[in-house]
Amino acid sequence: MLTLSKVTKTYNGEPALDGIDLSLPEDSYVSLLGPSGSGKTTLLRVIAGFETPDAGTIRFGGKVINAVSPHGRGIGFVFQNFALFPHLSVEENIAFGLLNRKHEAVTDRKVVDARVRDMIALVGLTGLEGRATTQISGGQKQRVALARTLVTEPKMVLLDEPLGALDANLRSRMRSELRAIRERCGVTFLHVTGSEAEALAMGDTVLVLDAKKIAQQGYADTIYNRPNSPAVARFLNCYNLFGGRLSDGVFSSAAGPLPVGKFSLPSAQSAYAIRYDRIAIRPREAVAGADEVRIEGTFVASEYTGAAVNSFFQLDDGKVFEVEQHLSHSAPEAYQPQSRYSLVWKKEDALVYG
Ligand code: ADP
Ligand code: MG
Repeated sequence: MLTLSKVTKTYNGEPALDGIDLSLPEDSYVSLLGPSGSGKTTLLRVIAGFETPDAGTIRFGGKVINAVSPHGRGIGFVFQNFALFPHLSVEENIAFGLLNRKHEAVTDRKVVDARVRDMIALVGLTGLEGRATTQISGGQKQRVALARTLVTEPKMVLLDEPLGALDANLRSRMRSELRAIRERCGVTFLHVTGSEAEALAMGDTVLVLDAKKIAQQGYADTIYNRPNSPAVARFLNCYNLFGGRLSDGVFSSAAGPLPVGKFSLPSAQSAYAIRYDRIAIRPREAVAGADEVRIEGTFVASEYTGAAVNSFFQLDDGKVFEVEQHLSHSAPEAYQPQSRYSLVWKKEDALVYG
């Protein structure tokens, strides 16, 4: 429904987008993940029409829209800092876009009121219609910003780090809220975030932006289980990565030789990756089975994150190695600081790039 081919954008000779190819499905929640400065906002602004690409084609609903004005595209934009009008009430903020837009402004007050009322109900703001936007919470501001966009009935909505300004508690609640609101209105949301957890939790599909290009696009579980390059695996922040060289079924790394299973993924950069939650911590003297890989590390510390505990080990080359254990079944074990442990995983669970 939205397709970009070979879209580039340069600022003062520096590329911000360098050949973006992507294709977004209809009626879907899509996350766009990338570190700060990777071009996420620029990409959204190009899609919305606030920036003109230097080259490439943007197609939306079967038509090339490169030359169509932002208002004529039918694409809504929810800005990073909400950008509400402080002197207008909740209701007036939401009505503003309908009353004042350049294309097809709606001036029949009855129609406007009915649509604003529907939107207020949709995003869960009933009862706050007359409240000043300076007197509502961060989560409520987020809902006003969303309602103000949705009331214009866009065919697609772009959200620039929509949860970035909220505190952690509210952020996780708004995640499911946003997904539910999107399902009710049936349009595609393209949600930009720098948080891998947010991208994987929210997106039906996830796009990963790296080095001004789309590094990977796929279902969230595919990206999580099979990142297609060491760079994507590194972004996801749930893999231990080793540099080194692959030959004859063994990956030679600074941590020693690591036997390799069936999987190896073609990549320009060689790396060996094992997910934090695929590793067992055993006593130092434990012996690895035939299908296992074993290294040794010195326990440093553990960190609790609600449903899981993350333990950090130092390997002999100084590298920090992370293990994640879920706490659903058993109480966490206590490890001795400065003691040596075996860190063991299944050969088949590793991803080997080379
Ligand atoms: P992100 O949203 O992922 O943090 P941006 O899209 O804001 O990244 O920025 C991508 C790159 O383009 C950065 O290097 C940034 O400095 C540059 N950039 C963005 N907007 C402008 C602009 N209006 N003028 C010059 N450089 C810009
Ligand atoms: Mg940005």
